[in-house]
Amino acid sequence: MRYSKQRETVYSVLCATDAHPDVAYIYRETRKILPDISLGTVYRNLNELVAEGLIKRVSAEGGAERFDANIEPHAHLVCVGCGKITDVKSSRFNLTHELDGVVRAEVTLYGLCDACRQNRSE
Ligand SMILES: [Zn+2]
Ligand SMILES: [Zn+2]
Repeated sequence: MRYSKQRETVYSVLCATDAHPDVAYIYRETRKILPDISLGTVYRNLNELVAEGLIKRVSAEGGAERFDANIEPHAHLVCVGCGKITDVKSSRFNLTHELDGVVRAEVTLYGLCDACRQNRSE
C-alpha cells in the first residue's frame, strides 16, 4: 500500500489533536502544510483512513461528523453545553461485546465538560 503525501498529512493532522475535529478543522490545518489541497481530497482521504481502520468516525447527535485518531476502544463524553467531545478514561464504559456477530461497540455519554461545569458554578 502506497501512502500519499496528502494522506500522511491528513493523518498526522488528526493524530496531533485529541479534540475529535470535524472536516473543516482538518482541512484548515492540512492547508497550512499543503496549501493546494482541496476539501474534497481531504474528505476522500479521511474516508479511506476510516475504511482502513486507521481512524474512526465519531458521531454525535446534532453535530457535524467528527474524526478520531484514537482507535482503541474508548467512550466519549459529548458536552451538551459546547459540543466538545472528550475521551472518557474510565474503563467502566469500555463495553466488551460478547454477543454473536457484534464486532464493535461505542459508548457516547452526554453531559457537561469541565469548562462548562466551571462556568455554571461561577
Ligand atoms: Zn462544554
Ligand atoms: Zn476519542
